[in-house]
This record gives sequence, C-alpha cells and structure tokens, in this order.
Amino acid sequence: LAKDRGRARYEVFDDDLRGRIDRRLDTEIALRSAVDLGQIETWYQPIVDLRERTVVATEALARWRRPERGLVMPGEFIAIAEEVGLIKEIGSTVLGQACLAATALEGGMAVSVNVSPRQFVRDDFGAVVKRALSTSGLAPNQLWLELTESAVMDAIGSAARTFQELRDLGVRLAIDDFGTGYSSFTHLREFDVDLLKIDMTFVRDIENSARDRAIVEGVVRLADSLKLEVVAEGIETTGQLELLREMGCRYGQGYLFSKPAPQAAPVVHFEGFLASSTAISSRETAVVRA
Ligand code: C2E
Ligand code: MG
Ligand code: MG
Ligand code: MG
Repeated sequence: LAKDRGRARYEVFDDDLRGRIDRRLDTEIALRSAVDLGQIETWYQPIVDLRERTVVATEALARWRRPERGLVMPGEFIAIAEEVGLIKEIGSTVLGQACLAATALEGGMAVSVNVSPRQFVRDDFGAVVKRALSTSGLAPNQLWLELTESAVMDAIGSAARTFQELRDLGVRLAIDDFGTGYSSFTHLREFDVDLLKIDMTFVRDIENSARDRAIVEGVVRLADSLKLEVVAEGIETTGQLELLREMGCRYGQGYLFSKPAPQAAPVVHFEGFLASSTAISSRETAVVRA
C-alpha cells in the first residue's frame, strides 16, 4: 500500500514536470516565428522629472501578442529568448520600433531600451544600434540603453569594444536594476555610464523601512558625486514620491505616473504630485502630445 501511494505521488510529479516541459517547448516553438509574424510589440512607460513635472524619456518594454493567448509579458519570454538564441532578433525589433516611435515625440524626449547581456556581448551590437539610429533618424543622445549589471560585467571583458563603440556613438548608457547585481561599485569604477536606475525592490518599502531609505538616499548621493543621473523605479505611492524628492532623486518611473501603454506618446497622471503639494486643482492630468 505504501509503495502504491509512493508511486502515485511520483506519477503526479511526473505529469506536472511533463506538462511544464510541454508548455516550455510549445512557447519556444511559437517564439521562433513571433518576430517574423509581427507579434512582438513595444509598449512604453514614461520616465518623469520629479522636480519639473515633465516627461524626459519613455522606456520601451517588449510584449508578445500571442494568438489565442493574449499579451505575454517579458517575464515569460525574455529569459527563454536568451536561452534559445532569439534575443538578438527580438531585441533588434524592439530597438527599431522604439527609435522610430521616439522620432515622433516632441521636445527631444528620449527613449530608453533594455539590452540583454547576450545582445551586448555580440560583436555587431554597435552596428545594430547604429543602424537603428540611421534608419529612424533619431539623434543618438535621444537613445538610452539600459544594461543590467551582468551586461556591464561582460563589458569588463569581451564587450569592452562594444561599450566604447556605444560611447563614441553618443547614446546614453544606464545601469538598470542598480544594486541587485554583483559588485555594483566595481561597475561604477570601471564604466563611464550616464545614469543609474535604482531597482524597485529598494524603493518599495522606503516609507516603512529606515534601512531601505538609507540605501536609496546613499545611492542618490553617490550618483550625485559621480555626476550621474538617477531614476527611481517602481514609484507607486505619493509617500514614496515625497521621500524621493526630499532625498534629491531627480527622476522616477512607476504606476503612480503611468503604467506601460502601447503608444509612445506619454499620458502621465500627475495627481500624485498635486496631492502632496499645496497648489493647483486636485485632478489635473498632464498630457504631452507626440
Ligand atoms: P525593467 O527594465 O526593470 O522594467 C521595469 C518593469 O517594472 C516593467 O515590467 C514595468 O512594467 C514594471 N513596472 C514599472 N513601474 C512599476 C511599478 O510602479 N510597480 C511595479 N510593480 N512594476 C512596475 P515588464 O514590462 O514586465 O518588464 C520586465 C522586465 O523584462 C524588464 O525589467 C526588463 O528587464 C525585461 N524586458 C522588457 N522588455 C525588454 C526588451 O525589449 N529587451 C530585454 N532584453 N529585456 C526586456
Ligand atoms: Mg529597464
Ligand atoms: Mg529596471
Ligand atoms: Mg527590474
């Protein structure tokens, strides 16, 4: 009897594993033709100047419009794309769409594009970026590239030339999810980046945690000393916004202002500012038109 039960449990586990392998394979196969079928879309989330109440840039975020499955989020396909060698194609598609969309934005607004380490270590990445710029006509300083700390890590070795090529092109380089990778300080010492994006896990609890507040404030000061711009990710409450402004954090991004949307032209809700400041009517919405 015990043996039967054991076996039954084993089979349940087996079915579960089987199901996961099937789903994974299914995703992988569908993903292979996603670019060719035009299923990769680019959505946008504004990056706001917390002091001036203006939009300075918009971040391009990949979405996969999968037939019969709806909109698939990057968390479900970027890692797979990296593993099976599809990230270069998907990344170039997003980069191209983002550069083109940015040319229609007013006021020299920039577009910020995520770059996976696997794209970055390729010898031709500099050429890919150059092509996206010349095809769209976007000015290089209107393109920001967000590198994760592991991509920057690669730049220490094999991708040093790519890093220099991008510097020479005049695009702006950001470290994404700052603080979550290994040896963040080594990156800052070795690499001449323009911008740090403080990961949202540090921002989330600043209202309740003195420790998190100290960390964020420390990063803001560090960025300031190094003459880097700093963006706080994942701002959801007016309380977080107020604290960040007090700390002198210049830029921010988060659901408080806008969730990612399919059009590049930002529609930003500045109610968060208004609720916490003295002036102006309480339900104003600022729209920056393309
Ligand atoms: P990320 O670059 O750090 O982007 C921020 C993520 O946080 C986005 O999720 C965004 O929708 C979400 N977010 C923004 N504000 C808030 C907020 O206030 N609260 C919360 N809870 N979340 C917020 P998304 O679009 O699902 O993207 C997830 C990650 O996938 C990105 O993190 C990025 O690492 C990766 N990714 C997205 N698009 C691309 C791409 O085109 N290429 C590459 N290589 N990676 C991409
Ligand atoms: Mg990013
Ligand atoms: Mg990030
Ligand atoms: Mg992140």
